[in-house]
Amino acid sequence: MYAKTEEIKVLRDPIHGYIHVSLQVIWDVINSSWFQRLRRIRQLGGANMVYHCAEHTRFAHSLGVYEIVRRMVSEVADIADSLNEDEKVTLMLAGLLHDIGHGPYSHAFEQVTDTSHEDYTCRIIEENTEITEILEKAKKNLSHEVADVIRHTGANPLLSQIISSQLDADRMDYLLRDAYFTGTAYGEFDLERILRTLRIHDGRQLVIKESGVYAVENYIMSRYHMYWQVYYHPVARSYEYLLHALFNRLKDLHDASDPSVIDLLAPIALSRKMTLENYFALDEFSCGYAFESLTKHPDPVLSDLAKRLRDRRLFAYSDTKAIDIEELKQKLRAAGFDPQYYLGKDLVSQKPYVPYTGNDAGAIWVRMRDGSTRELSNASNIVYSLIHGPVQDDNKVFYPAEAMKKEL
Ligand code: CA
Repeated sequence: MYAKTEEIKVLRDPIHGYIHVSLQVIWDVINSSWFQRLRRIRQLGGANMVYHCAEHTRFAHSLGVYEIVRRMVSEVADIADSLNEDEKVTLMLAGLLHDIGHGPYSHAFEQVTDTSHEDYTCRIIEENTEITEILEKAKKNLSHEVADVIRHTGANPLLSQIISSQLDADRMDYLLRDAYFTGTAYGEFDLERILRTLRIHDGRQLVIKESGVYAVENYIMSRYHMYWQVYYHPVARSYEYLLHALFNRLKDLHDASDPSVIDLLAPIALSRKMTLENYFALDEFSCGYAFESLTKHPDPVLSDLAKRLRDRRLFAYSDTKAIDIEELKQKLRAAGFDPQYYLGKDLVSQKPYVPYTGNDAGAIWVRMRDGSTRELSNASNIVYSLIHGPVQDDNKVFYPAEAMKKEL
C-alpha cells in the first residue's frame, strides 16, 4: 500500500556498503529540508578535537540506523514474520527520524538551552512540519505512529525495543560508525552475527540465541571501550565545557538591545522559548559563523571564549582529586580569569550494561538451548563480572593552563 520508488535507490556508506531505499515515503523524508539539516550537525560533540576524522554527521548515522532496521525487518525471519507491512514501514521511519530533533553540539547545547532532543524530535515529526506532511500524505496518522515508537508509547512494544533498548539499531550503528571515523578498533563488533542470531520470543520480546552471546559480549565491551576512549575523552569534554561556558556567558550578558548578539543566538541569549523556525536555523554551520562574529564582541570573556573555540585553545584538565580547587580559583582570579566561566567541573560514569531489575530498561534477553530465556547478565560471565565490579567514573576539572603557570 505504500508507494515504491521508481527504482531502488542506493546510497554508498562505509559502514553498511549501501543504504537501500525502495519506498517513496522514506525517500521523501530523506529529501526534506529538516532531514537535510542533519548534514550540518555532527554526530560527535567534541571528539573531533581528539580524533580528527570524526567529522561524520547525524545525517549519515540516521541513514545507518534506518538501514539496520530495514535489514532487521526484511532479513531477520522472526521479525519479518511477526510484523505487518504497516509496522515495518513505521519502524523504518522511526529509525530514520529518531535523531531528527538533535541540535548543534548536542549535549552542551541541551544543557544550556534546557531542551531535550527527544522533545524536538517528536515536535518535528508531529507539529505540522514538512516531515509531518510527508508522513500524513503517505498514510493518515502515520506521523503520530512514528512518534509513538520513538516515545515508547506505541501499541507494539517490540517496535520501540528495536530502535531504543540496550541492543538496538541506534547503538549498533553509532558504535560501528564512531569506531570507523575515529579510527579506533575498540568499537567494532560482529553486526552480521548479531542479526543472524536475533529472534522474537512470545511475539513480544527481542532475544538473542544462546549461540549469539559472544557477539553480544563483544558489542557490550565495544560500548565500554568507546565510552572511555572516545565519548568521555577529557579533551572532548574540555571542548564541550568551552561551549557550555560560551553559551552561559551569552545568557548572562542577555542584553536584548545588543546588536552584536545576532538574531540566530537571540533565543539562547534571552532564554526565550524557541520556535521550530528558530531551531531549524541553529546548526553547526550557522553557530560556527555566530561564534566567529563573537570573536569581535566587546565583552572580553565572550570574545576570548569564542576565539578559544575557533582555534582549539582548549582548557587543560586534572583529576579533581589531584588538585586543590580553592587554590586553583585563587590562581585563576589572580591571572584575571573569572572562575564562573574559566573553571569547569564534570563527573562522568558509565555502566556498560544495566541488567533487568523489575522495570524494563531495555535489558538484553537470551534464548537458551532448552527454550528458556535469561537476562544477559545471567547468561554471560563477562557481562556478569562487568556489572558486579565497581562503577567506573572520572572526575575532572578544566581551566586555562596559562593561569597555573603564574605564581601567586
Ligand atoms: Ca542516535
